[in-house]
Amino acid sequence: MTQELLAPTSRQMISVFFLGCLILLAISTVYMSKEMYRPSSHSSTRKVTTMKELDEKLNYKSRTAVETQTAWKAPIMWEGMWDPLVYDRVHMENQSSVALTVFAIGRYLDAYLKTFLVSAEKHFMIGLPVIYYVFTDQPNKVPLIELGPHRYIRTIKVERHSRWQDICMMRMKTISDLIETELQHIFSHVFCFDVDQKFTGRFGSEALGDSVALLHAHYYKLPKNRFTYDRNPKSKAYMETGDYYYHAAVFGGNWQNVKKLADECLANIMEDKNNNVEALWHDESHLNKYFWLHKPTKLLSPEYCWDNYLNKKDILVTRLEWAVKNYEKLRTE
Ligand code: UDP
Ligand code: MN
Repeated sequence: MTQELLAPTSRQMISVFFLGCLILLAISTVYMSKEMYRPSSHSSTRKVTTMKELDEKLNYKSRTAVETQTAWKAPIMWEGMWDPLVYDRVHMENQSSVALTVFAIGRYLDAYLKTFLVSAEKHFMIGLPVIYYVFTDQPNKVPLIELGPHRYIRTIKVERHSRWQDICMMRMKTISDLIETELQHIFSHVFCFDVDQKFTGRFGSEALGDSVALLHAHYYKLPKNRFTYDRNPKSKAYMETGDYYYHAAVFGGNWQNVKKLADECLANIMEDKNNNVEALWHDESHLNKYFWLHKPTKLLSPEYCWDNYLNKKDILVTRLEWAVKNYEKLRTE
């Protein structure tokens, strides 16, 4: 009698056990297959801990109409290739910090600086410690803006060169001096910006890299023979051919590389001055020469500095936009 009562109970237990195993198996199969077919940039993100691993997980196939990698395997950053949350987490864990340099000299201060800084507070490297180095000839006119936690502004007075070409070119000297005297060892990354632009979308930690160059919005689709490199053999910026046409309005990298870039461009600018030559597009020509000789490790697509005058076909998000230029009114000479 006892045995008869017990027998169905143990059978029930065995079937409950097997049913449990089946359910577990089904759950793990569904989970595994999901992990396997996720795009690479979103896969098993818990394991990514270094910045190098982040770029290795970029999804290069997510954008088919544009080039997403250079011949030397540097990524070209287009929206859709990465998970912003993973980039932010890893950069926070690695304690990345960013120094931004911007120049607002003469009439450029009133015209652009406030919009630039206020918009940067909404979109630039949110979540990371940031310092804005504002170089100006009128420190008392730098606007007071509200800053988020761990974000600072430092205003440094500089002399005003009389020619606008010199204002642009001599930024290289100021940047190099800044890195030498106070920035090195404190901030892991440096980004150098023109002031005549406005942040309009995320410009985040995915843009950080060892040596970062920006594809010029007007040239990213054009064949190489249309690039306006300096063709004067007397200039140190002279180059016959190159990889891309880079825009000097944005460049960056770790402080060591930005120092190297600024020093080399400055030395070439000074040598040109001694020889009474000036490169076609001033600092931009020298920057293009530098990035031809020392390949950048990361390229930013024109989503990172867009001119709204152009057809937006390839642009899924604009992160920084050109402001209206009014050279006659703003430039000194
Ligand atoms: N700049 C400045 N005052 C000037 C000329 C230039 O502050 O009188 C700075 C400013 O940051 C500006 C950058 O140098 O954005 C480069 O100059 P500009 O934007 O006129 O060059 P472009 O965008 O035409 O290459
Ligand atoms: Mn500009």
